[in-house]
Amino acid sequence: MLICNATLPDGRTGIDMLVRDGRIAAIGPGLVQPPGAELVDAQGWLLSPPFVDAHFHMDATLSYGLPRVNASGTLLEGIALWGELKPLLTEEALVERALAYCDWAVAKGLLAIRSHVDVCDDRLLAVRALLAVKQQVAPYLDLQLVAFPQDGLLRSASALANLTRALDLGVDVVGGIPHFERTMADGAQSVKILCELAAQRGLRVDMHCDESDDPHSRHIETLAFHTQRLGLQGRVTGSHLTSMHSMDNYYVSKLLPLIAEAGVHAVANPLINITLQGRHDSYPKRRGMTRVPELLAAGVNVAFGHDCVMDPWYSLGSGDMLEVAQMGLHVAQMTGQDGMRACFDAVTVNAAKLMGLSGYGMAVGNDASFVLLQARSTVEAIRLRAQRLLVVKRGQVLARSPLAAATLSLPGRPSQVDWTQAR
Ligand SMILES: [Zn+2]
Repeated sequence: MLICNATLPDGRTGIDMLVRDGRIAAIGPGLVQPPGAELVDAQGWLLSPPFVDAHFHMDATLSYGLPRVNASGTLLEGIALWGELKPLLTEEALVERALAYCDWAVAKGLLAIRSHVDVCDDRLLAVRALLAVKQQVAPYLDLQLVAFPQDGLLRSASALANLTRALDLGVDVVGGIPHFERTMADGAQSVKILCELAAQRGLRVDMHCDESDDPHSRHIETLAFHTQRLGLQGRVTGSHLTSMHSMDNYYVSKLLPLIAEAGVHAVANPLINITLQGRHDSYPKRRGMTRVPELLAAGVNVAFGHDCVMDPWYSLGSGDMLEVAQMGLHVAQMTGQDGMRACFDAVTVNAAKLMGLSGYGMAVGNDASFVLLQARSTVEAIRLRAQRLLVVKRGQVLARSPLAAATLSLPGRPSQVDWTQAR
């Protein structure tokens, strides 16, 4: 396949890309179409590496309304609801919902997802279901699983044993939730135990860390410390980090270099953070999302996650990482040109780096996995939540969509509307 006349995320235009044996064989201007190769005219549209979701919960997705809806929309009612739903779950229903979500994801050009899976269930039903899903979707979607002790590693009696079993069964990443343990000390202890477990097994770590408006929730400091102590640099992620929004500025000025030095990645979940945090505030009301521009400026790799789609915590969403990027851009006020481009990176290259995906990106030798977006730039892609014209994984076309258009019937006006930037 030869894709011709594409725009790349770095702004280069008039670029051709040759795909051979599932890999990018050449990329640049003026490539010659080999005999027998299919020609795809990109018409100047944006050719991007696929979207990557750094933080998701596939065991809960599409369960909204089961067994009832979250009437208040709060985190606490969501956790209570999940507790009500868990005993009613079946492996078949979990697999069915997860596969349906993966279909949505593929159609939106989302081809790699890191999903947490709750291990606080002695049956490990969700673990078994998502391991089966991971295997089934492997030809078209990279699903990485995190063993997540939702009820607390030390707070829940069987959590550590279950988490270890989940890793034995093939779950990829060690999870945690230190702010949910009974005490700050227990939270710190859970971080130590989990980082040591990951170091022993050569695994990555991704913890729900300080998902709270409490400015004294400082488990990210402990996470950075153990990352450094155990030589886990580049393999550890702090997810949410919402308490950092509320922390004292002086303390943050010490914390940011520690996170950067330890090579700890950060994940913000803009849609969920803006809806679940700040709920105890009157006015002014905190946004609660972590300090994204400041983390980036300190040299920390920051990705955005979708976190939830139609589950006990969040009733909206469709697997569209451009919606996530757009919300992140607004909440972080990253409205400068560099800031907006950084938000696109947060749902593509930064997330891929955090997951340790190999062969990712628009360069020769990498997987020919990409999405053609009906936009002229990454900023325009976010603005329009651009149509995914073509979604390809290792040279295989997975999804196509027609150009987004509307036919107008207005006196003295053109009949087609064009939302893209005038050239
Ligand atoms: Zn989460």
